[in-house]
Amino acid sequence: MKQLERSLKCLVCDAMGARHIITQNGHRVFRCATCGFQFVHPTPTPADLARYYDQGYAVPLERYSRNKPRNEGHIVDLERWRPQRGRLLEIGASYGHSLAAARSRGWQVAGVELSPTAARYAREHFGLAVFTADLLDAPFAAGCFDAAIMWHVLEHTHNPAAQLNQLLALLRPGGVLGLRVPNVASFGARLVGRSWVWMNPPAHLWYFSPTTLPRLLARAGFEILEVATLRGDGNNFYQHALIALGARLNTLRRRLVRSRPTSDGLGTTDNGQPAIHDPNPPALEHAWLGLLARAQPFTESLARATRPLVEPLERAGWGDELLCYARRPCA
Ligand SMILES: [Zn+2]
Repeated sequence: MKQLERSLKCLVCDAMGARHIITQNGHRVFRCATCGFQFVHPTPTPADLARYYDQGYAVPLERYSRNKPRNEGHIVDLERWRPQRGRLLEIGASYGHSLAAARSRGWQVAGVELSPTAARYAREHFGLAVFTADLLDAPFAAGCFDAAIMWHVLEHTHNPAAQLNQLLALLRPGGVLGLRVPNVASFGARLVGRSWVWMNPPAHLWYFSPTTLPRLLARAGFEILEVATLRGDGNNFYQHALIALGARLNTLRRRLVRSRPTSDGLGTTDNGQPAIHDPNPPALEHAWLGLLARAQPFTESLARATRPLVEPLERAGWGDELLCYARRPCA
């Protein structure tokens, strides 16, 4: 492991050397010793990823449909940086709800989407120009977009640096890119660690923070306009605290179980974390998830009531969602 750790090169800062922090779903996650960027290694091949997404990773259609105000809100937010509209590209357009919202606000829109089902829905239901393709293979001319959006997609891609290089080429000088990704430096991620809902390889392969994402964008040639963190789709503060409490209790339970002499060979990984093949009893897991679900409405109301306390945390970079606007330089 030590030799592997020394041989890894960081995508963000190019430095050699990373530390193995956890193994999650059978994938090793490393942290760059120089800039702190977190990433899965080895990166699954595009063929592995295609197989994974074919086998049922999908965001249900209704989740997009009922989020109409949010989809439109994201476009309104982007317009702070590009009020004059123009041509807009979405990478990972899904079922087309965001593009439809942008079109209704005066943008000319196009998209790419890897899921054939979602892309077909966008074409047939909304009449949108959504191509079933990776951005790197999409049929667009250089410099033809005034804006591009990529909501919770960059962390899934095989090579985020290649995606950003391509986006820079597709934007005209002065064109604006809006990115939303999970924030690995968030309060939730710090508190609950491997139980953080977005620490889920191989869906997410790259774990960005308010320092590493702008750095990768700058490397690709972008000029950074804004970096912010938000609550996003993550859990509220109190729900995170409950998850953390559960994880602590579980660690304690595993220690007690392991301290008893057993013959079933319970193992640990090389960093002392409980091994993946050491699952909890299904009944316990089920009861705990049920309890978390029942607690959610209460923690949500508590979060609403204490909103003024949480906002400063988001401003300090601790929100679960990271939002970044960047621009292709004019000169
Ligand atoms: Zn680095």
